[in-house]
Amino acid sequence: MSGAGMTTATTKAGGGRVVVVGSINVDLFARVARHPLPGETVLGGDGSTRPGGKGANQAVAAALAGAAVVMVGCVGDDAQAEVGVSLLRRAGVDLTRVREVAGSPTGLALITVSDAGENSIIVISGANAKVGHDDVADLDLTADDVVVVQGEIPVDVVDATVAGARRAGARVVVNLAPVVDLDPATLRAADPLVVNEHEALAAARTLGAVADGPDGPDGPDAAAPVDTAAAARLAEDLVAVGVASVVITLGGAGAVVAAPDTLSFTCDGEKVDVVDTTGAGDCFVGTLAAELAAGGDLRSSAERGNTAGAKAVQGRGAQESYDWEEKP
Ligand code: ADP
Repeated sequence: MSGAGMTTATTKAGGGRVVVVGSINVDLFARVARHPLPGETVLGGDGSTRPGGKGANQAVAAALAGAAVVMVGCVGDDAQAEVGVSLLRRAGVDLTRVREVAGSPTGLALITVSDAGENSIIVISGANAKVGHDDVADLDLTADDVVVVQGEIPVDVVDATVAGARRAGARVVVNLAPVVDLDPATLRAADPLVVNEHEALAAARTLGAVADGPDGPDGPDAAAPVDTAAAARLAEDLVAVGVASVVITLGGAGAVVAAPDTLSFTCDGEKVDVVDTTGAGDCFVGTLAAELAAGGDLRSSAERGNTAGAKAVQGRGAQESYDWEEKP
């Protein structure tokens, strides 16, 4: 993002950068006794505005884990843009490739949480939908870099980013969240593909690793794995159809990891007091990418992601709940 206060990350000795191509949002939270009916107005409490978006969350997590991070994405030309990048800036993420789009709002998530604990969420893509091929055409990648993508910007741009990263020899981390229709070649290039149980099943269907459910490829995921052993089998099935490596996150049960030529293994869930799980998956992904960029192997990277994810669920919000101890 051009303008005063821009920060440029420095690469730590021997390590590559983490380049996150993805969404930057502002989350508007409101707590209500119950959700309003159509046409109704209710009073809310505990309103807050917080930086979010999967791409930005992952970039912040990677920077807090010690990586030199570049964020690639778009914000609008509104007042929310500065909120959206505020913690990226504080974490020391390089914002020179965050583009301001004239006439577009910054991505917005309107999140209402009722006393019964039910969320209702409206996501307005805004400037995230404007991330284009020019934004990812010339990322100056090297074979030491780790590129991280998710599903909140246009799918063709995600596919192009991954294809470009592979040409440069960079490692690619693909977080299929939300589930979008990525090119099977993008899924296979993922090293690792990081998904929860439901996303894992969607990827497996796309790649023909499991049959479609009774309602076709887009039907309910009645066959999502229900335990760690089933998740490990699904991860192995994804590797068997050509995905470079797979991490399936399992909430409080941790994660399972599969890669060719190794036995799949589990990162045990940590027993913690859960305050808010928002952004825990993103914290896992960003931290894992940072460890890979620092030269860690898949096991140490997944374990570090798992520990960071468990920390994130113990605090409110997404980026605010990450480990800021080392930062001012
Ligand atoms: P998503 O929100 O993307 O579905 P998960 O719920 O699988 O992601 O959580 C991602 C990671 O966050 C987990 O792999 C784990 O490391 C951590 N995590 C999530 N929930 C808990 C929990 N209740 N206790 C401990 N760690 C958790």
